[in-house]
Amino acid sequence: MKNPWVAGTFWIVLYLVITLSPLLILLIHPAPEGRGFWIEFSAAFGYVGLAMMMLQFALTARFDAIAAPYGIDIVLQYHRYITQVAFALILAHPIILFFQDAEYLQLLNVFEAPWRARFAVISTISLILLVVTSLWREKLKLNYEVWRTTHGILAVATVALGLAHAFGVNYYLALPWKALLWILVALLAFGSLIYIRLIKPWLMTQKSYRVEAVVPQRGDIYTLVLRPQGHEGIRFLPGQFAWLTLDRSPYRIQEHPFSFSSNADRGDQVALTIKAVGDFTNTIKDVQPGTKAFLDGPHGAFTPDRFDCSGLVLIANGVGVTPMISILVTLAERGDHRPIRLIYANGSWDDVAFREDLEYLNKRLDSFTVTHVIKEPPEDWAGESGYADKDLLARHIPDDREGWRYFLCGSPRFLDEIEKALHELEVPPKYIHMEHFNLV
Ligand SMILES: Cc1cc2nc3c(=O)[nH]c(=O)nc-3n(C[C@H](O)[C@H](O)[C@H](O)COP(=O)(O)OP(=O)(O)OC[C@H]3O[C@@H](n4cnc5c(N)ncnc54)[C@H](O)[C@@H]3O)c2cc1C
Repeated sequence: MKNPWVAGTFWIVLYLVITLSPLLILLIHPAPEGRGFWIEFSAAFGYVGLAMMMLQFALTARFDAIAAPYGIDIVLQYHRYITQVAFALILAHPIILFFQDAEYLQLLNVFEAPWRARFAVISTISLILLVVTSLWREKLKLNYEVWRTTHGILAVATVALGLAHAFGVNYYLALPWKALLWILVALLAFGSLIYIRLIKPWLMTQKSYRVEAVVPQRGDIYTLVLRPQGHEGIRFLPGQFAWLTLDRSPYRIQEHPFSFSSNADRGDQVALTIKAVGDFTNTIKDVQPGTKAFLDGPHGAFTPDRFDCSGLVLIANGVGVTPMISILVTLAERGDHRPIRLIYANGSWDDVAFREDLEYLNKRLDSFTVTHVIKEPPEDWAGESGYADKDLLARHIPDDREGWRYFLCGSPRFLDEIEKALHELEVPPKYIHMEHFNLV
């Protein structure tokens, strides 16, 4: 499916068919009798919620075909929000039952309740923990890797025990063909898990990289230059990113997403530019040349290559400039003649990464302007200072709002403010593209 609209629509329809199929199964003959509307209604909520939870595994398995029309970041955002819908549906299932008939409350007594009810209780507790630890991970001060491991275990527990409950009740799934349909969806879910945890890392071992150099930039930022080992390297679109695992093996849980900062058309030498902000990124400066590296990518839809446009406005702060550098280098190498404007915000002039590269790109690109915005500029600074706000943007974005595409990357607050300002300046939302450096 080459056309992204066709592919995008296909996946949405398939998603709806799979999540709503339990309702059809409930309705199709021979439907059970004698339980009353509210009990059937509550069962329907439970089944649809469970089907949605099972599909979460496919959404997070980074299948290229699924992510291609939307970008993996959108798919992961969807995964995050739709969990809350599945959560509400699954919780509604017992709550309706309890209101309908208080006798059902006895099923909460895990010491005396039958196993099918115990499975349901533990599955629901796992789901509650899963949602709480994901929504409030930072407030709970959960280390990312601890959270990720726990997240996987809780997700498997929620789905496996939810299924055990549905089969244990043996009401709707008593007929073999109905049971078979659920087994197929379960295979899809757990097959996706095996793919992302075992098959994909194995494929990555077949295409490893070595660190060729670690180039320090300003602002505690380092560029890792990687060379493919015994393969042609990676083809990506400028602006895309990959998950990086360093050293030993790609089976490690310690993998991090970084945008490419190099020429997208030269897969034989790729670069990632990384700011030291935490456990993993603080170690980048000490990585030794020769260290093994693995890339899972390319991913993402943040690229001008997907759109026809007469010019580009790139707006970044701090290390958010990384995908912009890849876009600029690639377009320069391709001899692209379109006008490009970069608005680049930093705390101080000494923190501005890629300063010299931008001067060089200025000479290479026909019609390229850089506007540095420095929050605390040096005394002799004649350029823009303070924050990049609506007035500043009005001075630097093109008067003609049509035809240009806007690419925004930076810290979450910066992105919110710039997006709002662009809306106020009547830039049509469909021309604005954003890369969030916080997927979760
Ligand atoms: C699409 C995308 C592109 C990115 N591109 C760049 C880039 O080009 N340069 C750059 O410096 N940074 C980039 N980042 C951010 C970078 O991934 C995080 O700064 C890094 O993972 C932090 O890891 P840490 O262990 O050093 O810090 P920690 O203190 O452990 O984490 C800081 C925060 O980073 C996020 N994070 C941590 N680990 C992961 C992970 N494995 N996967 C997803 N998020 C994680 C979490 O929100 C966490 O709260 C990008 C992020 C995304 C989602």
